[in-house]
Amino acid sequence: MKYINVALPIPLREEFTYSVRDEIITDNIIGKRVSVVFNRRKMTGFAVSYAQDIGNLKILPIHSVLDEKPVFSHIMLNFLRWMSEYYICSLGEVLKLALPSVMLETSSRKLVFLKDGGSLKEPESSVLGFCRDLGPSGLDEIEKVFGKAGVKAAESLKKKGLADIVSGIDLRKKEVLLNGYRLTGKEPSDDGLSSLCSIFLEEGTVLQKEIRDKKISPALLKRAVSEGCVEKIRVRKDHFDRLMKEAIVPAPELKLNDEQEGCAEKVISAIVSQKHSAFLLHGITGSGKTAVYIRLVSVTLSLNRTALILVPEISLTPQMVRQFRTRFGDTVAVIHSRQSDLERYETWEKLKNGTYKVAVGPRSALFAPLDNIGLIVVDEEHDQSYKQTDQSPRYCARNSAVMLGYMHGAPVVLGSATPSAESYYNAVTGKYTLLEINQRYSDAVLPRIKLVKKEKPGNIFEKYTLDVFRRELDKSRKIIVLQNRRGYSTSLVCPTCREPVMCPKCSVPLAYHLDRKQLICHYCGYFEKSRTTCPKCGDENIYFKGAGTEQVEQELKRLFPSVPIYRMDQDSTRKKNAHSDILDLFGKPGAAVLTGTRMIAKGLDFHDVSVVCIVNLDSELMFPDFRSDERAFQLTEQVAGRAGRGKIEGEVILQVFNDMSPVIEYIKAHDTKGFLKAELEMRKITSYPPFSRIIKITLSSDKLPELQSAAMSVYQALASKRTGCIVYKPAEKMVLKVNNIFRLYILIKSLIINDRSGIMTRGLVSDTLKGLKLSSTIRTDIDVDPVDLM
Ligand code: ADP
Ligand code: ZN
Repeated sequence: MKYINVALPIPLREEFTYSVRDEIITDNIIGKRVSVVFNRRKMTGFAVSYAQDIGNLKILPIHSVLDEKPVFSHIMLNFLRWMSEYYICSLGEVLKLALPSVMLETSSRKLVFLKDGGSLKEPESSVLGFCRDLGPSGLDEIEKVFGKAGVKAAESLKKKGLADIVSGIDLRKKEVLLNGYRLTGKEPSDDGLSSLCSIFLEEGTVLQKEIRDKKISPALLKRAVSEGCVEKIRVRKDHFDRLMKEAIVPAPELKLNDEQEGCAEKVISAIVSQKHSAFLLHGITGSGKTAVYIRLVSVTLSLNRTALILVPEISLTPQMVRQFRTRFGDTVAVIHSRQSDLERYETWEKLKNGTYKVAVGPRSALFAPLDNIGLIVVDEEHDQSYKQTDQSPRYCARNSAVMLGYMHGAPVVLGSATPSAESYYNAVTGKYTLLEINQRYSDAVLPRIKLVKKEKPGNIFEKYTLDVFRRELDKSRKIIVLQNRRGYSTSLVCPTCREPVMCPKCSVPLAYHLDRKQLICHYCGYFEKSRTTCPKCGDENIYFKGAGTEQVEQELKRLFPSVPIYRMDQDSTRKKNAHSDILDLFGKPGAAVLTGTRMIAKGLDFHDVSVVCIVNLDSELMFPDFRSDERAFQLTEQVAGRAGRGKIEGEVILQVFNDMSPVIEYIKAHDTKGFLKAELEMRKITSYPPFSRIIKITLSSDKLPELQSAAMSVYQALASKRTGCIVYKPAEKMVLKVNNIFRLYILIKSLIINDRSGIMTRGLVSDTLKGLKLSSTIRTDIDVDPVDLM
């Protein structure tokens, strides 16, 4: 009998001891999934360590081991343990997050018949007959029929090689494979073939059944296959993903320019010596950071190690993913948030067994089960999407990636044109090595910035802006317009009550959406028919206030009826390939305008965009948070970076009412370093991160008075301990009520000089909360290093 500690995917920050019967083969059980009974419920847990024999306590045996091989490597397990300690959450919750969800379904194990084995004792003989005659049989089922002895018999049959025990996930059988064709990259030898290849170049993979629709001659196709320009492949029906179906056309080796080369070399020597170190690659927009990453990945692969590339969100960076796929072909796994459970599981499996050697994906790709990682890249490291904020663990994938790199002995490259204040601080204090690219690739220059003072609130565009738009569109150039608000207008206001129409369940105004003709709450999703009179006083002069992307789109269509206008925001991109479809249309030669929310600020690389306009810079600058200047700077510099990436010089128009904000001077000069220096100076004076460590505890409940008294008692418990931490009194979140739940928060802060590793704040919070009994109606969420305080 052995004992193991099992982590369960529940919020309790404890592990539970179970025993393992000797018949269960127990070598290397750590890192495997185990099926256990907890609170009389069957659950899938994880064996995380061996336990002491704890004498005569009543310990339950595990029900079964679900894996042949550990699902978590030793390093991964250590990494996830670190994460649960750092972010103060249960190990089981973190482990759960790191696996595809299908692996957590209480998957039953099945006994599969292999061959007959002469004379067997009972019940072995009957059990073998059972699964021979009835097909693969769940061990549960066998236990019901033959009792515990049946399960023992099954295990012994497995040892004898007469039957096999497989874990429940049996997804392969569900998938339907379709025949298709795609390019191999071999040059076509005559005109007939090359016209055929151009169809494929446009389409990517063509399915067998689409051949007639696409007017492809079967004879020509046959010839293309026999000459090797086109290959036949099998694709899965329901996960026919756009990016993965694109043909892999090998691209010529990239030649790095001197600055790129200089940066790459420093990292390459770390890759080669297999030593961890962290680099901050500060390269201005359009400087070609991707080319550097590609070079680093090829070196890593040539040393037989694997690479992890984190990006903000795949659908927003299709051009970058395409580059990785063209260079590294089918060894690249593309992970993204819209994958089905099945796709996720398949990708996981292929990463685990080494078919894929590069994983590209958003923050969750951090858990890609790559062995032997030799390089980690975090592109756009300043991006907020790296922090999970909506549920536990509230981890930051960028900071965690640095820890993962340390554990693998791999260099970590954080790249950005607008580094976060935290990372920049780490670079200037020598914790990270700073690498810089100060020139755009191939002599493109950064766009000029023009500040346009807004005169009337009613107008979306000022005269200057419209003149520039007209001039540039006439030259067949493209324009990008940022308006970081969804919908048609942000509120519907009554002039008599002087109040907007509010969400009945949240303390926020409802936004009007033209395409749905509804008032919608952006917090809880509540909607109702739009109104023509005030719901309170019946005033008919109710009016829309604050333009959103839909209104900007309408206005552009009105002003430029002959120019294609595209809109990209959460609403226009709900469908699976909507992002890339919009970008493909916008990318077609000729004049066009793309308007949208911050989605359009990232990664777009179109060479004929000459103007970028920010409709309302004030709304970015006015947000009451210590990071608002940083965010405004990042957003403007990133979106500005979309202009003038080719031969034409770009212009950025910033429309603003209040032009006094000091950030504007840095924006105008593209002075990222100047901004960061000033910002760090300010953070130092006000002791905000990175000069302090902050933990935010959010308490929520549907009963406000109870919530207030609970928050007070948490506050008092925290404040009564003499720790050197500063504990702030409970405060209301900026939006107090969401979906009828009230939210209060408490901040705990310590100065970095006293608390370098953050152990002081973390210790205070976890000790205090452990000893505190709160009513079950109060929910507590802990956020270590929160990105916003409200
Ligand atoms: P960043 O991500 O730093 O803003 P990109 O990686 O998008 O910049 O590069 C900007 C443009 O320059 C892209 O069109 C890219 O293909 C091109 N480019 C950059 N470096 C190279 C290189 N070494 N060889 C060829 N093209 C390059
Ligand atoms: Zn609401």
